Amino acid sequence: MKINLSEAVASKTQRVDFDYTVDLSGEEIDLEHPFQAPVRLHGSLNVQGGINRLEAEIEAHVTRACARCLEPVEYDKRVPVSLILTRKVDSEELDDIIYVESDEVELDELLVPELILDMETVVLCREDCKGLCPKCGKNLNEGECGCDRRVIDPRLAKLQELLNKD
Ligand SMILES: [Zn+2]
Ligand SMILES: [Zn+2]
Repeated sequence: MKINLSEAVASKTQRVDFDYTVDLSGEEIDLEHPFQAPVRLHGSLNVQGGINRLEAEIEAHVTRACARCLEPVEYDKRVPVSLILTRKVDSEELDDIIYVESDEVELDELLVPELILDMETVVLCREDCKGLCPKCGKNLNEGECGCDRRVIDPRLAKLQELLNKD
């Protein structure tokens, strides 16, 4: 959705409210498509006092795969966003200041990256997820598979060999 800064300044309330959804189902993060449901962007652009303040909240229903067992994990996520939009480049570089090139501000371009940046790097289905057996691939949360998963350190194996000789 586009917002025009000049029109916002000229408006009586000097603010533009927005509440809409975007389709981010094509967005790929770590080979996954986490946003299968529409993502809601809502908030307002307030232009009072010559400062363009964008206050928004992003609401997304996220579908990811557990990093250990690969089972689907679903959760709701809210990302608050607070940005100042400016067309001047003389103010000091600050994290929450975004330079815009024209009066036309594309909200998606400002807000969607905030959601992507806020995504968790690792998602687990549960804190103590046992993961998959590296030998047979069985989901160990569902029970033992019976594989011998002991990893033998090659240095210890050598020592064992020497000890066995005596
Ligand atoms: Zn898991
Ligand atoms: Zn196994």
